[in-house]
Amino acid sequence: MSKNCTLEEIAVLLLEHDKFVLCPHVSPDGDALGSTLALKIALEKAGKKVMLMVDDDTPKAFGFLPQIETFVKPDECAETEADLLVVLDASSLDRIGKVVQAVKAKAIVNIDHHISNTQFADYLYLNTEAAATAEILCSLVEMLGVEPDKDLATCLYTGIYTDCGSFRFGNTTPATMRAAAKLLEYGARPNEISDALGTHTRANIEMLAKVLQTLSFYNNGAVSVIEINNDLYDKDVNTDNFISFARYIEGVDVAVLFKAVEPNVTRVSMRSQNTDVAAIALSFGGGGHIRAAGCTVELPLAEAKLKVLDAIGKAL
Ligand code: 5GP
Ligand code: MN
Repeated sequence: MSKNCTLEEIAVLLLEHDKFVLCPHVSPDGDALGSTLALKIALEKAGKKVMLMVDDDTPKAFGFLPQIETFVKPDECAETEADLLVVLDASSLDRIGKVVQAVKAKAIVNIDHHISNTQFADYLYLNTEAAATAEILCSLVEMLGVEPDKDLATCLYTGIYTDCGSFRFGNTTPATMRAAAKLLEYGARPNEISDALGTHTRANIEMLAKVLQTLSFYNNGAVSVIEINNDLYDKDVNTDNFISFARYIEGVDVAVLFKAVEPNVTRVSMRSQNTDVAAIALSFGGGGHIRAAGCTVELPLAEAKLKVLDAIGKAL
């Protein structure tokens, strides 16, 4: 169990220490990367030593984020000492991979917004009402007493913008909009960020064309499925946006993307209108939010698909 902290307590804790390792979840998305980079910028403004670690590659699609090149991998720096390991946007220890072994920290701090949070850290700030971890960070940065600049604002705006589906999802609240508005005042440029995120590589669109041909329906059209099999899979092609094509179809409640990342390992992404897909993901060792969740199933795609579709069928 974690000590559940207020955000003020987290700010005080951070200001009391000097040497930090910050880490987002594996398969890092805009919120994970944006929150981690923004906290680095803020803590450095407060005079702290900060290192960023992630047990994964950072997707090329986020190459526009300031300082994205400063992430190192745990394999490259075993035995890193720090006062605090701060884990951002990750709800469980297995979501940070080998970082936990590589970093010798006095304590782990976790700042998160996932309903599936497992209370793994020593100190936790969890706000499941926040649309994004970046929304939480917006308040935290102010508590740290630093002046946000355009780079910091760009990172946080990207985190909020991606996690609330460009302010379209139900997790978008007045607080989300207020945080975004502040970030615009601090210098974030919404057109630059949405252009950077909305411009896809040719390989991305070419793969999408192939993946859309796999679109199929189950449970009388309540479940839609798209698939990336071993032949189609290319680790260098970002597929994060693919699920939205299966999601917004008349009659569809749950959309699923199955991605064969290895012959016996299948990544599953789920989105829903009503059904609690976090609960389904959790039953396969994953997690997420009620309407957006994921898991990794250690089975070939066809077998993973049977099991997951069976669980979804029961949950509908
Ligand atoms: P995505 O489908 O975009 O990978 O993930 C959707 C949501 O579920 C995100 O909020 C993500 O953090 C969470 N999620 C995805 N995969 C996993 C997983 O394997 N474990 C946990 N705990 N959460 C996941
Ligand atoms: Mn998030």
